[in-house]
Amino acid sequence: TAFASLNLKPGLFDNLKTMGYESMTQIQAESLPAILAGDDVIGQGKTGSGKTAAFGLGLLNKLDVKRFRIQTMVLCPTRELADQVAKDIRTLARGIHNIKVLTLCGGVPMGPQIGSLEHGAHIIVGTPGRIVDHLDRNRLDLSNVNMLVLDEADRMLEMGFQDHIDQIIAETPHERQTLLFSATFPEQIQQVVEQIMYKPLMVKV
Ligand code: AMP
Repeated sequence: TAFASLNLKPGLFDNLKTMGYESMTQIQAESLPAILAGDDVIGQGKTGSGKTAAFGLGLLNKLDVKRFRIQTMVLCPTRELADQVAKDIRTLARGIHNIKVLTLCGGVPMGPQIGSLEHGAHIIVGTPGRIVDHLDRNRLDLSNVNMLVLDEADRMLEMGFQDHIDQIIAETPHERQTLLFSATFPEQIQQVVEQIMYKPLMVKV
């Protein structure tokens, strides 16, 4: 299916052509219409399925660049994944000017992150532990988040991030859109889904 069938912002659509993306992958074709419509979506897809572009296009299409507030929060299990996701979002965002993506991960000094937070961002990509650190120090305002993405949710739970994730979600507005990606669906994930998602569409690839 062609990206042209979606209602994407022209800047996003034109950039996809520049990137050489001609048609959607299966997970994109099945999830993007619902994501762009504002629905909650569960994606059961591994790395290589194109899931990053699925949620990346969704969050970028929803974003209001003129409102310089944190509108999107993407949670990842590791710094490596968060860096990759942030890089992919920046590439997808090339057709839209002045989008600020900030990564907040553990294992790196707090100082520069605090400075970056003071300058502001539209999108945060990070790991749960470090994000909770910033929340506890009142350095992170999530009251304008309208899109929350949990990437590799099963790995985050395996790593013991459940309490951190709960704390982060509690700081976001209830009327947000939530997307969850996971390779596996153990009981713990089902419970999280029931607590944080509203009538989610399930997409398997
Ligand atoms: P992911 O599953 O998000 O790790 O993506 C796997 C790879 O597929 C990445 O290198 C993407 O750049 C690439 N990719 C994602 N969507 C498309 C698409 N529609 N057409 C071509 N390549 C894509």
